[in-house]
Amino acid sequence: MIDIEKIKKLDKEKIREYITLKGSKQNELFDKARIIRMNSVYKNNVELRSVIEISNICEQKCKYCSMGKNGKSLFILSYEEIIEKIKSLANKGRRTFLLQSGELSKQDFIDNISQVCEKAVSLYPDIKIILCMGNLSKNQYKQLKDSGASRYILKFETSNPSLHKFCRPSDTLEHRLECINNLINIGFQVGSGNIVGLPGQTIDDLLADLVLINKLNLSMVSATKFIPNNFSEFKNYPAGDINITLNFLAILRILKPNCLIPSTSSLEQGSVNGQTMGLLAGCNTVTVHDGTPKKFEKNYSIYSDDRFTPEEQYCRDIIKNVNMQAIPYLI
Ligand code: SF4
Repeated sequence: MIDIEKIKKLDKEKIREYITLKGSKQNELFDKARIIRMNSVYKNNVELRSVIEISNICEQKCKYCSMGKNGKSLFILSYEEIIEKIKSLANKGRRTFLLQSGELSKQDFIDNISQVCEKAVSLYPDIKIILCMGNLSKNQYKQLKDSGASRYILKFETSNPSLHKFCRPSDTLEHRLECINNLINIGFQVGSGNIVGLPGQTIDDLLADLVLINKLNLSMVSATKFIPNNFSEFKNYPAGDINITLNFLAILRILKPNCLIPSTSSLEQGSVNGQTMGLLAGCNTVTVHDGTPKKFEKNYSIYSDDRFTPEEQYCRDIIKNVNMQAIPYLI
């Protein structure tokens, strides 16, 4: 029997056991996660959002990522290109936009994105803008918040400081957490989480990730599966384990009933029906890859060069197949 109370108390022994479940016991864990989701404020609804990848330029050097290193050219979408894309997607009914880029702290880039946010919310006051642009200064976060963005995603990736340094040598866990706390204090609805299966990561590291996620005041929580990107320094390491990732997501749902949890396209890489399994494990957010101009999709190589970029119909089908309902936003 899965003991929900022990999960809520972050009982180390039980969580170590649950993180590695397979077969019928794993199904029982997913069942419990789905019941908790059904009883949450969002019930069986799934946020269907669009991602617009606005630039592949990045000042960090994460070893699992090949952004800007796969021989493809660098790009920054212009103000006009982003606004036109938002207009065309909004006219189709989309209301949540994830603007994602590498980490680029140049002030003119931040000014440009601020102007995009201002214009977009003036055109469509009911839209939600989520930014995922890495570590920036407090003033830059504030500028972006004041311009109309309401959410920000900044994953800590791993809560183990030395593993963090190994995987992300150009940053520190301490600085990453300072940025996450700045975002929370500024008033963003913040998303954060980890990567499951990083080289050298242990089950106890995952447990510590859960403790950290539980401590932070987050609106969105996530776990992505490590993918050995061909052009990255980690290309020869094995991929993260799909079952451990799904179990981690189910435990997250039990710990955070009212948080948004994405079923990411990383779950599909090397696994059949991975995103469907994510929804069955308790996730409630799916991202449609219809915002990045096709000519730049291959240039945005954060986790994988041959990444899966699901289109709207695929996303709607997997949501329908698990008897959930796609809606424009949850928060
Ligand atoms: S993972 Fe993100 S922050 Fe790290 S190098 Fe890639 S784009 Fe930059």
